[in-house]
Amino acid sequence: MKRVVIVASAESYRTADFLGAARLLRLDVVVASDGISPIAGASRVHIELADVERAAIEIASIEPTPDAVVAIDDEGVLIAAAASQLLGISCNPPSAVEATRDKAIMRALLARTGVRQPRFRLAGIGQIPDMAHALGFPVVIKPRTLSASRGVIRADDREGARAAEERVRKILAKAGKDPESDLLVEQFIEGEEIAIEGLVSDGELEVLAVIDKPDPLDGPFFEETLFVTPSRHPAHVIEASVGVVQQAVAALGLVTGPVHAEVRLSETGPNLIEIASRTIGGLCGRALSFGLLGESLETVVLKAALGVSTSDHEPTRPASGVLMLPIPATGVLSDVDGMTEALEVDGIDGVEVTVARGRRVTALPEGDRYLGFVFASGQDPEQVEDSLRAAAQVLSVTIDGESMRPAVE
Ligand code: ADP
Repeated sequence: MKRVVIVASAESYRTADFLGAARLLRLDVVVASDGISPIAGASRVHIELADVERAAIEIASIEPTPDAVVAIDDEGVLIAAAASQLLGISCNPPSAVEATRDKAIMRALLARTGVRQPRFRLAGIGQIPDMAHALGFPVVIKPRTLSASRGVIRADDREGARAAEERVRKILAKAGKDPESDLLVEQFIEGEEIAIEGLVSDGELEVLAVIDKPDPLDGPFFEETLFVTPSRHPAHVIEASVGVVQQAVAALGLVTGPVHAEVRLSETGPNLIEIASRTIGGLCGRALSFGLLGESLETVVLKAALGVSTSDHEPTRPASGVLMLPIPATGVLSDVDGMTEALEVDGIDGVEVTVARGRRVTALPEGDRYLGFVFASGQDPEQVEDSLRAAAQVLSVTIDGESMRPAVE
């Protein structure tokens, strides 16, 4: 029986999905996590995610020796790489993974090999409005190391840039990061956005899914809503976008494992917004399934990590998608209404609310969570998009006593 260590944060949406996949593959699983609650069907090792070196040593000393170490989320990718290195398991160089965790390092490495991306500057305290002006408005101001669009803000003029800087610094302080650190200022790339889900092996990118984001993402905050696959963009656009992601993989030095990239399609071609060395976030992976057996994304990733190359990576269904439900306001969540009605919408496969009622929720750009996810499948992407939009129409969320609809067009 092969043994796999899954590195998960206590906040992860997907520990259960990875455990389910591991069970199907009859793997012996150890979950390395900062959580405290017991995990059914798996043994657990407690780690502190912030102490990469120590966590890696703890994972590497697990007996019997693990055959693979897989991180679920961004928070665990450095630990998984460092532990794999100690164990002599083929893995991404920690420096490559580090570049996916620090947007400034990522931009610099991409620039070195001329990968198409937004023009950018790294700016210190008080320099943001001038740097933004020099780049040309609109710009996007973002912290180097947060994720899930937390602290990512568009600014259209100097005053907007100043206000965004102040807000991002407060978000950094709240996240336990240095509020005085340099921030990234990037040219705002106009155009539709797609996501590319891939699997890298020996440095070569295999595309698992190209996902359209049919709702505009124009800011000032960038909450994700609709994801639909396959992409409806023309083949040459997809090919060029995949080319940019492959270049990014090479520029960063990623050689193995899953990657998730965001690409903006500007008038002049695709631009790499971000690449992460993990699978798609939240529960969105559930919208993807592969081969005749309908293998999950987690199954595909675990098999790849163990060097089992029997997977068929053709999509099982002609089209599928997910609606991420952003948190529409900051306050106490008292209810999510309309779940039964949403499930009755044609093409809807599932609705999952991931925040407990009674919990305090925080909207973007301060927050980094989603209220929940709605899954759909159908004969073509149009049908899937229609189903997800119809489901959004019947859902409503009550925060601090006020009822509101998900912000979907
Ligand atoms: P995170 O890692 O927090 O998700 P990203 O850098 O991926 O941060 O930014 C989140 C989202 O913000 C992107 O998916 C994109 O929609 C938008 N965004 C970020 N940078 C730019 C940019 N330079 N131009 C246009 N949109 C951007």
